[in-house]
Amino acid sequence: MTIFQKIIDREIPANIVYEDDIALAFHDVQPQAPFHVLVIPKKPIVNIATATQEDKTILGHLMLVCAEIAKMEGIAEQGYRLVTNINSWGGQSVYHLHIHLLGKRQMQWPPG
Ligand code: AMP
Repeated sequence: MTIFQKIIDREIPANIVYEDDIALAFHDVQPQAPFHVLVIPKKPIVNIATATQEDKTILGHLMLVCAEIAKMEGIAEQGYRLVTNINSWGGQSVYHLHIHLLGKRQMQWPPG
């Protein structure tokens, strides 16, 4: 079981900013920007590489939740970044799909 499943099950605490039937969002414990939230599905999808057609609605929902949180946080106009890491070379460390929502600073390109 991943650490994110334990957060969904309330076995370990998290600073939750948003929740509905499909998604949960909470602050990253090691923020890489002044605002760094993780948006995850309650369904244990490993990453985008393992997602199926069946997950289409969930994936779309997660993106819209990100946009809604950014709006609530007042960072939509200034801008922010969404990132999802996949497997080893993508830099994934927790094998439960998550979208990093990073904001409140200027982002750089290319990423590391
Ligand atoms: P990734 O490396 O893309 O798999 O991202 C995993 C993220 O989860 C990292 O940014 C970690 O800092 C974050 N993380 C790990 N454990 C926790 C936790 N218990 N609560 C919140 N964020 C966590």
